[in-house]
Amino acid sequence: MKLGLPSDAMVVLIGASGAGKSTFAGRHFAATEILSSDAMRAAVADDAEDQTATDAAFELLHTALGLRLARRRLTVVDATNVEAWARGRLLAVARRHGRPAAAIVFDLPLEVCLERNLLRGDRRLPEAAIRRQHARMRASLKALAGEGFEPVWVISSAAAVDAARPERSSG
Ligand code: GDP
Ligand code: MG
Repeated sequence: MKLGLPSDAMVVLIGASGAGKSTFAGRHFAATEILSSDAMRAAVADDAEDQTATDAAFELLHTALGLRLARRRLTVVDATNVEAWARGRLLAVARRHGRPAAAIVFDLPLEVCLERNLLRGDRRLPEAAIRRQHARMRASLKALAGEGFEPVWVISSAAAVDAARPERSSG
């Protein structure tokens, strides 16, 4: 499946931990195009898992996002982004710079996220956290267009993730 994305877009990945967001981003986008909350925690605290660094990490992420969008650089936001208020802060940055906001939702089955969470060496979360994130992702689906995301791409299986190909169109 082709996922059309304006070439100057903010591209927000949405999904529970374990859904495959970072793997997908690394496969399809340049490292410099990806702003991840984990990398920003590491940038400010030398530890991608240090939750006390979350506020500073997002401050850095939002700043870098704005600086990139000002230059019309496509920018992928790799965080769970399952809460409307968190997406609202991203949308405000895109709006300030007059850039389109695209969403790619990783609507994979909860069982896949839980299974991968157990298998992963890094950043294993409590099962309850994954369940909560997954429920919030589901609850977000209908709201995204109204929040201002366009286009909204929803990927609903591991096979669909493998088949998905982001394609840039000049904006
Ligand atoms: P994120 O938490 O949404 O960023 O998910 P990650 O990209 O970090 O992936 C979580 C775990 O699932 C990692 O151990 C990945 O290696 C694994 N994973 C991610 N994508 C795939 C996939 O398409 N197939 C399989 N089998 N494993 C995957
Ligand atoms: Mg990740």
